[in-house]
Amino acid sequence: MASPNGSWESKIFIEETRVGKGVFANRHFKTDAIIGEVTGELIHDAEYTSSYCIDMGDDIALEPAPPFRFLNHSCDPNCELFVYDDDLFKLLVVSLRPIRRHEELTIDYGWPAEVAIPCQCGSDVCRGWVVDPEDLPLLLEEKAEEAKAMAQEQQALHQKNSRRKSKAARAAC
Ligand SMILES: [Zn+2]
Repeated sequence: MASPNGSWESKIFIEETRVGKGVFANRHFKTDAIIGEVTGELIHDAEYTSSYCIDMGDDIALEPAPPFRFLNHSCDPNCELFVYDDDLFKLLVVSLRPIRRHEELTIDYGWPAEVAIPCQCGSDVCRGWVVDPEDLPLLLEEKAEEAKAMAQEQQALHQKNSRRKSKAARAAC
């Protein structure tokens, strides 16, 4: 069967990683190499969300099909998605630097702060969160506020418990 990616198996392969499936290079790629096209279903719904969907702008999301459905995030990615046809929302996976055979292919998800999750990419420049670099200061501020609120809550709980304990001690007398 013909597919837009042709025989992608010669270029890439899918393998389990510590964060689920990942896409790996099956051969060497030079910088700016076109590795393949992200195919999938275009969903015209501003509210649509999923673990894999790619925001295409104009309230359109792309639910990517395998193999590129399994491209993982890195804060120091070796690939990026390149829109080569704005009207048809055609997306290419392009290498940002030379990629060795068996190296995992990654892109920077650049998620907005509202949907950020802790990052496990393990790169030296990891931001700690899967988030758009521009949204990082805002996210860290929000997380600091949350941590403060939680600490206050715990302190209040602790005080309540110690009051309860002293009451119980009195009752035991
Ligand atoms: Zn990271």
